[in-house]
Amino acid sequence: MSINFDEIKAGAKDIFDKAAAKANEAIDYSKTQLDRGQLRAKIKEEYCKLGKICYDMHECGDDRTGEMKQVIGIIKGLKTKLEEADSAVNAKKTKECKFCGTANDAVSVYCSKCGEKL
Ligand SMILES: [Zn+2]
Repeated sequence: MSINFDEIKAGAKDIFDKAAAKANEAIDYSKTQLDRGQLRAKIKEEYCKLGKICYDMHECGDDRTGEMKQVIGIIKGLKTKLEEADSAVNAKKTKECKFCGTANDAVSVYCSKCGEKL
């Protein structure tokens, strides 16, 4: 009986490649999660800034609407980024059924509606 080492090597490489791809996917996912947390924190920070400007403006009577508009612009930009990150995560979270089109959890094996294998 002869052992085909090339075949074993090819098989091992295939398994390794698949594992590496899965690991990358997991890293991407957690990175997106982290980005979203940072974005939310940044938005909160900008809201605080906006509140402080508003407070100071009423307290001192200075017109700081220009500054406020600038902060509002920053918040809008951050919110757009957060929406993009959210939809990227949501897209990854679901697995669409080929038979009925139902969006299932990414880890599901069978469709929750029609029971077909996903
Ligand atoms: Zn289905």
